[in-house]
Amino acid sequence: MSLQSERILAQLGRLRLTHLGQCYEGLAEEAAQKNLPYLDFLEKLLEAESQAKYDRTVKLKTQWAHFPYSKRLDQFDFSFQPSIDEKKIRELASLRFLEHKENVILLGPPGVGKTHLAIALGIETILQEFSVYFITMQDLVAQLTRAREENKLKEKLALLAKPRLLILDEIGYLALDQFGATCLFQLVSHRYEHGSMILTSNKSYGDWGSIFQDNVIASAILDRLLHHSTTVNIKGESYRLKDKRKAGVLAKTAVPPTS
Ligand code: ADP
Ligand code: MG
Repeated sequence: MSLQSERILAQLGRLRLTHLGQCYEGLAEEAAQKNLPYLDFLEKLLEAESQAKYDRTVKLKTQWAHFPYSKRLDQFDFSFQPSIDEKKIRELASLRFLEHKENVILLGPPGVGKTHLAIALGIETILQEFSVYFITMQDLVAQLTRAREENKLKEKLALLAKPRLLILDEIGYLALDQFGATCLFQLVSHRYEHGSMILTSNKSYGDWGSIFQDNVIASAILDRLLHHSTTVNIKGESYRLKDKRKAGVLAKTAVPPTS
């Protein structure tokens, strides 16, 4: 390696321009071949480094989000689920709800795409370089129960208040005891008007009292959640059962009832 290359690498290292260290020689050769003006070459160098930084940020934030799977909005077949207003979802994907600290609540029976849409909106959020954390209600209660045993409940709740978007999936599949209900109330209060949440549930709002086994706490939670919010009510068939139905394996009545 020439002395000049060593000096360049040392400078790039000091400035933490790590990606340029790997690609500046190739870009310089290309610029010489194409007779690029100096400013165009400089711009190419800066673009390469900032693209690499962006890719790294997106990768890290995606790992941190803990999505159960990766699904984008363009993988969602709106024609299969006509009860969903595509315009409303596209508006949500603009992330104005995040700017205004509003919540999004996706309601509907199993398999209609609630988690898919929540993840897709989460990915859009990460592409704008904001942090996201995805957790199911069941895991949330398990994590908070452990935190309580370790005397770290306050820290854990504070941590969950941090991401710009918190996705809380599958509210309503399990009934919550007093501790679970209080935790959700505290979490929702912590985030109220500070940061958006996306929640999914198979239960309509009228049935939330039965999830918390307490109508008072259910209405306190809903009051805060719904104050600034968009509800997407999905009424349709499960996408999971679509192929089975096509093959005639399932009768129409086998669709789980909307609750
Ligand atoms: P749920 O409403 O139970 O959360 P999911 O979002 O997990 O349902 O959807 C179940 C599966 O079906 C996922 O793999 C999801 O990507 C897929 N899916 C659901 N609805 C659609 C749709 N309209 N277009 C494409 N894939 C869909
Ligand atoms: Mg789901």
